[in-house]
Amino acid sequence: MRESQAADSPAQESAADVVIAGGGYVGLSLALALKQADPSMEVAVVDPKPMDSLARDPRASAIAAAACRMLDQLGIWDEIRATAQPINEMIVTDSKLRDTVRPVFLTFAGETGSAQGDEPFAHMIPNGAMLPALYKAALALGVRFHAPDTARDFHQAGDHVSVALASGGRIRAKLLVAADGVRSRLRDLAGIRTVHWSYGQSGIVTTVKHERPHNGRAEEHFLPAGPFAILPLPGNRSSLVWTERTGDADRLVRADDFTFELELERRFGHHLGKLELDGPRHAYPLGLTLARDFVRPRIALAGDAAHGIHPIAGQGLNLGFKDVAALAEVIVEARRLGQDIGGLDVLERYQRWRRFDTFQMGVVTDVLNRLFSNDLDVVRGIRDFGLGLVDRLPKLKGMFIREAAGFAGPAPRLLTGEAI
Ligand SMILES: Cc1cc2nc3c(=O)[nH]c(=O)nc-3n(C[C@H](O)[C@H](O)[C@H](O)COP(=O)(O)OP(=O)(O)OC[C@H]3O[C@@H](n4cnc5c(N)ncnc54)[C@H](O)[C@@H]3O)c2cc1C
Repeated sequence: MRESQAADSPAQESAADVVIAGGGYVGLSLALALKQADPSMEVAVVDPKPMDSLARDPRASAIAAAACRMLDQLGIWDEIRATAQPINEMIVTDSKLRDTVRPVFLTFAGETGSAQGDEPFAHMIPNGAMLPALYKAALALGVRFHAPDTARDFHQAGDHVSVALASGGRIRAKLLVAADGVRSRLRDLAGIRTVHWSYGQSGIVTTVKHERPHNGRAEEHFLPAGPFAILPLPGNRSSLVWTERTGDADRLVRADDFTFELELERRFGHHLGKLELDGPRHAYPLGLTLARDFVRPRIALAGDAAHGIHPIAGQGLNLGFKDVAALAEVIVEARRLGQDIGGLDVLERYQRWRRFDTFQMGVVTDVLNRLFSNDLDVVRGIRDFGLGLVDRLPKLKGMFIREAAGFAGPAPRLLTGEAI
């Protein structure tokens, strides 16, 4: 980030209260939350992707109950629910790749499989439904889109920030939110350093059809190379998040269908009958990236720009939605009180709210991944004893499921289903 006193040519420059760089889940839901709570706020979103490509995202995400409540409050849950699959039950196994039986060590079902009452602790939601729903709702409320375009640079100058776009335009605003993903360019330009390491693993993501119904059951199989998750989708279909060493993952993604399906069956098993690939395969390199600071004067990081974690617990986007709910609440309340929404004192409220929770989840996923992604018999013995112990303690299981549902800790209003 550079301080600049230079006046921009008004012909090139548009104005907004908040500019959000990144029209992914986090950027779009933040834009929608801000505009819904305060229709007088001018909100602009910049993204290099054309917005009509969002429906083509073939992936699906496990979205926690608290985030579903936020999507409901944002007015898009009814549309999304039609495409979503509730997760009613979850099992955890731990075995060697060659084992023919994958013994179940931990089950979340019934009371320990729901968030509150009979509310499922999570839903699987196709990204191709969630992203367009967020975009359409934000557009309808008057959010301004600069897409395809890219936030290339920004200059902070006293009471505003001026964001330079690749197209040559500029947007002058009180606050810039960097929601530009884990390799955030704006985070680097702001001089915010990260703690980062790579796991040497990649997550292969694809979709399969199977003969028999999954009955809303999610499965996490801990295998020596890392977790292999089977996540239920509507119909006899499941989304897979399959962790392998990066070299093996790349080979598998490039392999012909026959080889890929053979390797898939070795891990998936035959309990859901015959399998058939039902979507493209992609491999995502996995690492831990935690921003040391979430804010600087006139800039706030949100979502993966602030924290990229291992998908072992399916919590990355859920953390991002918590950022959205907290940041929207802080901005809207500050504006109602007539405060400067880009001022450091206001933004630090957001940082205090979110940084520790994020750090904690980063550590938990890191430890879980190290503990479960190995083949040492001693370590397996200890972790299986631990899983078995947890399985016999319903109160502890209930605590874990409430954490996974997003109901632990002081929740921002949107996550409890209330308006800001
Ligand atoms: C294999 C895998 C499985 C996962 N499964 C789950 C799950 O089940 N549940 C869950 O909660 N999380 C899951 N996650 C994590 C989740 O995908 C991320 O947390 C989520 O995508 C973060 O959203 P985001 O909007 O912050 O970033 P992104 O989705 O990365 O979006 C960033 C946006 O910024 C745009 N952009 C980039 N640079 C610029 C720029 N300079 N200017 C403007 N725009 C820019 C990009 O085009 C993009 O649209 C998973 C992750 C992986 C890798």
